[in-house]
Amino acid sequence: MTIESSITPLRVAIVGGGPGGLATAIALSKIPSVEVKIYEQATVLREIGGGITIGQNTWNVLELLGVADTLTSGHVIDSHLNFNGKTGELLHRHVKEGIVVTRPQLRTQRTKLQSALLAHVPRGVIELSKKLAGMVDKGIGGVELLFSDGTVATADLVVGADGIRSVVRDTAWPDYEIKFTGTTFWRTLLPWDDVVKRDPRFAQTGWWHGLTTNIWLSSVGEGLGEIIAGNRQDPAVHSADKVSWGVPVDNAYVESHFEEFLPQIRGVLHGVKEGDWREFSAFAGPELSKLTAWDEKVVLVGDASHALSGAFGAGAGFAMEDGWVLAQALQYYRNDVHRALPLLNRIRLPYYARMYAHLENEAAQRAARLKDLGDSPSYDDRVRLRVIKAGGKDMSWIYGNHIGKVWEEAISTLDEQNSTADIASSYNTSTP
Ligand SMILES: Cc1cc2nc3c(=O)[nH]c(=O)nc-3n(C[C@H](O)[C@H](O)[C@H](O)COP(=O)(O)OP(=O)(O)OC[C@H]3O[C@@H](n4cnc5c(N)ncnc54)[C@H](O)[C@@H]3O)c2cc1C
Repeated sequence: MTIESSITPLRVAIVGGGPGGLATAIALSKIPSVEVKIYEQATVLREIGGGITIGQNTWNVLELLGVADTLTSGHVIDSHLNFNGKTGELLHRHVKEGIVVTRPQLRTQRTKLQSALLAHVPRGVIELSKKLAGMVDKGIGGVELLFSDGTVATADLVVGADGIRSVVRDTAWPDYEIKFTGTTFWRTLLPWDDVVKRDPRFAQTGWWHGLTTNIWLSSVGEGLGEIIAGNRQDPAVHSADKVSWGVPVDNAYVESHFEEFLPQIRGVLHGVKEGDWREFSAFAGPELSKLTAWDEKVVLVGDASHALSGAFGAGAGFAMEDGWVLAQALQYYRNDVHRALPLLNRIRLPYYARMYAHLENEAAQRAARLKDLGDSPSYDDRVRLRVIKAGGKDMSWIYGNHIGKVWEEAISTLDEQNSTADIASSYNTSTP
């Protein structure tokens, strides 16, 4: 019997063809005896929303997936600036510190990451126009996936890579809820020369801040630039109507939030072609105590598994790390989901717990600093406070994370435990 034929064949259904789903499919397609399918609701795979940062943690996982050399387009950013949007005062230069850099940090179009990943997904794996509507636990018969076109598929393992509004999560974790965070983003791409000609400072990637608003301006390469314009409201007041994701919105509506900003910034906003803005309302949900359900027949990766609403600007990297670890764990335990999925939980849950704790700590410290400013802090002081990252300067555990090394460490601990157990059992059997 060959090694391959001794491995239990596994039918894996990945729901969602975003960075998490595509990376999971690439990693799984490299291991024996896994039959993988991606079910994606879109009729055409097309990313919306503009740019994305490919930092070192994301490069590390792209290298492990064999995709890094395929992603060649983008704008190199070694730092980004923070300005007061009303006065133009430079507040802070943000540099990611303590990271072993093998490739420069890139800001690129989301479509570029998507096409690089797609080039490595084996033919026939992706099924488009398959919107998951529900799932049924069939016990030892696996999981039935019910699609909104009335078709049904069966899998031994379902990977929920269907993003922050995950149907997989809603079905297998029915009590889980996401809530509007209060932040709405408007995003678009536009010719970059049109932006830079208004102010030479725009050539540097940066945030321009108001009291509850901010604007990100960056090149994304190939003559294109992006604007992310954000506004924060009280979620308790504004939650009900905020369900939009990639919805077109009028220029006048976006511009109305930035009336106190410098004229050249308002000029950039005004220069956006009518119909090009898309609105995204940020949602977030609490930490999960397990990423797996239904007796290890369902697992979540990416935004579905940690609804952090893009808080670290590296969620595509996290999603791909999840998928890569899942494949390694399945390979290590020869497709035995009852051993592989607990290992995934052991590796990824503490990491996500650390992210949630970091955000909580940062919010608490910011609130304390606001209190320190007294009863009527000035506009400028409050804006300055927004760019002070209080939760700890060293973010290399996120932006320098090397999931390959994390995996090796986890396995060496397991190997040590196994050999200790072996010695113990041989001692027991050889001792009269
Ligand atoms: C404003 C903003 C800026 C960000 N900037 C960055 C950045 O610079 N760098 C970075 O790494 N990350 C960034 N992120 C986060 C990043 O976009 C996400 O973390 C990442 O896209 C998550 O990937 P995913 O595959 O888990 O989910 P998604 O990218 O959301 O993909 C989910 C896929 O599932 C499909 N799907 C959904 N429901 C169903 C269904 N019922 N049936 C079938 N298919 C379904 C969707 O169509 C989609 O293709 C940002 C996020 C925001 C909001």
